[in-house]
Formats: sequence, structure tokens, C-alpha cells
Amino acid sequence: MSKKAKTVTLILSSLILAAIAAGGYWLLQETKPQTCEICQRHIHEHSRAVLLLGKERVAVCCVRCGITHNVQAGKPGELVEVTEYLSNKPMKPEAAVYVEGSRVSLCDAHEGAMMDQTKRPFNLVFDRCEPSTYAFAKREDAQAFVRKNGGKLLSWEELRKEAELKP
Ligand SMILES: [Zn+2]
Repeated sequence: MSKKAKTVTLILSSLILAAIAAGGYWLLQETKPQTCEICQRHIHEHSRAVLLLGKERVAVCCVRCGITHNVQAGKPGELVEVTEYLSNKPMKPEAAVYVEGSRVSLCDAHEGAMMDQTKRPFNLVFDRCEPSTYAFAKREDAQAFVRKNGGKLLSWEELRKEAELKP
């Protein structure tokens, strides 16, 4: 190999190394675990939602957690973004179809520490993320999910109405 070729090879390999390092860093940032600002649970990529509290955009673990917070706070924040369960893509809440109360519960049992004195998980008694509620872009997909996992279909309007009715 000529001296020039060696230099070129050296430069190329350091460039590649730099690219790999940058890629790794990016990946680390992207996959950094996010926690729900309301219940501190890990935010699952299938169920993430964004709540507008005042002027702040707050990432929450699921649609249900955001709604429960609204009910508890008595001053509803606005859900401004939900995640499509199948594609993990963000979408507008009013454009989605929801499946409530299926057997799938992504927010379930994340924390071994969440036990009461009887050593039973709190979520058997009360879980702010239950009944689980997930968003789908297509009604057919939501129906297929219900056939497989149970639960019922709700439109955005129905979901909101239900949340308002809760004490
Ligand atoms: Zn939460």
C-alpha cells in the first residue's frame, strides 16, 4: 500500500469510527427510558400520550393515566396526542378509536415496590392506568384487538363523556 493510500484508509476508518460513536450516542438518547410525569411509571412506546397542563406538554404513560389525572385534579388537562397502538405513531386523540378494558395492560406491575401492607399489588385495588385504554387509527384494527384481547370500542367522544361521568 502506498503512503497516500494508507493515509486515506486511516482517515476513512476514523470517520467510520466517529460515525459509529455518534450513532450509538443517538440511539442511547432515542431509547432513553422515559417516565410518566404523573405516576412515574415507564412510558411504553405503544401507549404514550401527551397531556397539555396549562401551557406545558406533559408525557404520560397512557391515555387512561391522563384521564384519571384530569378527574382527580378536577381541572381537566387536554390530551393533545396519543400513540397508535400498532404503529407507535403519534396521532390526534380525536382521530383515534379506543379499546378500553382489554386483558392487555402495558402499565401493569412495573414496580415490585408498589405493594400495600397485605403484600398485594396496589393495582388490584386501584390503578390509575386501569381500565387500560389504547388508541387505534383504524376501527378494523381495534375490532381485531378486541376479538383477541377483550375490551370494548369507544370513540374519542365516548371516552371523554365517560371520564366526565366519573366521580
Ligand atoms: Zn402514568
